[in-house]
Amino acid sequence: AAVLTNASVATADHLPYHDPALSVADRVDDLLARMTLDEKIGQMTQAERAAVSNADITSNSLGSLLSGGGSAPSPNNATSWANMYDGYQNAALANRLGIPLIYGADAVHGHNNVAGATIFPHNIGLGAARNPSLIGQIAQATAREVAGTGVDWDFAPCLCVARNDRWGRTYESFGEKPEIATSYAAPYTTGLQGATLGTPASVLATAKHYIGDGGTTNGTDQGNTQVSEADLRAIHLPPFVESIRAGVGSVMITYSSWNGVKSHGHQYLITTLLKGELGFTGLVVSDWNGIDQIDGATGFTAAEVRQAVNAGIDMVMVPHEWRAFISMLRAEVQAGRVPMSRIDDANRRILTKKVELGLFERPLTDRSLTPTVGSAAHRTLARQAVRESQVLLKNAGNILPLAKNNNRIFVAGKNADNIGHQSGGWTISWQGGSGATTPGTTILQGIRNAVGASTTVTYNATGSGINNTYQAAIAVVGETPYAEGAGDRPSGMGLDAADLQVVSTLRAAGVPVIVVLISGRPLDIATQLPNWNALLAAWLPGTEGAGVADVLFGDHNPTGKLPSTWMQNAGQQPINDGDGKPALFPYGFGLAYGGTVERDPYQVVQAESYASQSGTQLETTTDTGGGQNVGFIAPGDWLAYPGMQFGATSPASITARIASGASTSGTVQFRTGSTTGPVFASVPVTSTGGWQTWTSVTANVTGSVTGLQNVYVTFTSSGAGDLVNVNWW
Ligand code: BGC
Repeated sequence: AAVLTNASVATADHLPYHDPALSVADRVDDLLARMTLDEKIGQMTQAERAAVSNADITSNSLGSLLSGGGSAPSPNNATSWANMYDGYQNAALANRLGIPLIYGADAVHGHNNVAGATIFPHNIGLGAARNPSLIGQIAQATAREVAGTGVDWDFAPCLCVARNDRWGRTYESFGEKPEIATSYAAPYTTGLQGATLGTPASVLATAKHYIGDGGTTNGTDQGNTQVSEADLRAIHLPPFVESIRAGVGSVMITYSSWNGVKSHGHQYLITTLLKGELGFTGLVVSDWNGIDQIDGATGFTAAEVRQAVNAGIDMVMVPHEWRAFISMLRAEVQAGRVPMSRIDDANRRILTKKVELGLFERPLTDRSLTPTVGSAAHRTLARQAVRESQVLLKNAGNILPLAKNNNRIFVAGKNADNIGHQSGGWTISWQGGSGATTPGTTILQGIRNAVGASTTVTYNATGSGINNTYQAAIAVVGETPYAEGAGDRPSGMGLDAADLQVVSTLRAAGVPVIVVLISGRPLDIATQLPNWNALLAAWLPGTEGAGVADVLFGDHNPTGKLPSTWMQNAGQQPINDGDGKPALFPYGFGLAYGGTVERDPYQVVQAESYASQSGTQLETTTDTGGGQNVGFIAPGDWLAYPGMQFGATSPASITARIASGASTSGTVQFRTGSTTGPVFASVPVTSTGGWQTWTSVTANVTGSVTGLQNVYVTFTSSGAGDLVNVNWW
């Protein structure tokens, strides 16, 4: 077949479905009417790119390819990726109707499969940053790098709410409570997709893994999430609601079960709740061979294919099993066990996204974006993200920040000079790697670059050579890379023996020890902590290690706050905010230089389950106390009521109650969607002071606020900044 270019595609003879002047729906209808059953099944099939030939792509009218973790062209660089993509896309365009494929990859912290790409901190660090606009910028930069390699579809954001730090995917979570993921869902989604799909550098986003992946018993990956529906909706659903509202184009189903039933066959969760109640109109994709898990037995069956498709999965990720899938689904449809209407619905959803992305007009890589992969501007943004993600947990005697001049610094630890380690899993390979796997700045290099000529920096991984002529020793220790179930820690969450040895070697020299922890989660360190002078949680910062040096030397005063409660010992897992277990460091904790404990500037407190909210009133639970106490906020902070159901016809009223330590006056403001969403009520309030004196403000909700909404409330004060307690009902 002739090799196509965007220009040649645009000027080809057009059938109606190729005509950009027609509506998306008309184009999809026209195309659907021309397709055979086999072509429709092909569109629903997503194969691993290494498991197909170009002839397979063309003759099966395959709808999608993916690069599973580490599945890269050789040599691995942005240009090879773009060339690889264009080759596959040309094979797809040679199918009978010229239907382009959509190519997916896991760009979960930058375009992490591509050597030379900018690697941002993993989500747990971004959660500590509490900065939705930063997330929007990261998503935009990621989208440019992804689009610059041709890839159309990003399997991100991961909106999991990790409830047990034993889980190997804890670092893919923004935190243990839904509030941070909920506040990030829209900027992340819009950052990847752009204002609308099809704009330059727009890639399809994926809210994953729907739903409850972070709630499994013992934190077992792909395990069973045993929670009531009210808790499922209160804890795990709110981020998805927000991503859907922002127009996310795809949702990926979780491997995990809900109360013993595998999600990949769950018609209630996929069709009733997601597509029905939440009104999701995009495409639902399975996880990697996830449909094989439906019946609990290994090996793919026709019954599993039938159950998954009938449950509502539209695109089926069957990386190496795609041939069996195609023939099984064909037989199921021909036998009438999968209705044609379901096949058409799945195709409509898939083709709609392809048309909206502009794949029919511009199927090939936008080469103007290829040079953005690993660009200086993106690395600067990543460095800023690293700065904001770190959480200072201990700083005895204000040992930090370190002086840049006239200092003698000793650096040790297996994670000090290792791009692979500091980037974690999902970096170049699925499980991550060790050493210079991709260009970047190690933490050691960052330290060396930060100091002046009068300062000596000595490095030895094991600490050998340390003596008391040094003024500080920095131990960069913690976890080494892992992904998914390989990272589950059913027992033992502490430092390994080598790390403990490094720290004790440094201590034995009689110099202050600063521990920089590289980890995908809180670790069990309470017994060692008294021996450390400072502790900085750097999470998995990615390629820009200079951002760690920026905090160590005070170029950035730490602002990160814990997105996850820090255990006293592993036996406390699961430990989460509000469960009454004594933490080593509570959720939201983080120091700044000067030794003050800073209040979380962006704290949103999650309210009760949305399942209990119904009718025209915002809360109809049997609160004997007359309203739900949702927590304390300071003026300028936010309280969130995720997933609140408003009456469809009659306007509701909201009442907030304010109590404050001292007299104050200000305004209570209610918003929908996010803390920057539309204001739907704003009420002045004056409080005379005294915690027992409640001042109520009531606002009518206008008819424009209907349906399922996430509601945010804040209180601005002209007073002295007392804590305020907001209730409503
Ligand atoms: C993971 C997903 C990922 C998929 C494709 C699976 O193993 O659970 O998060 O998107 O692989 O690489």
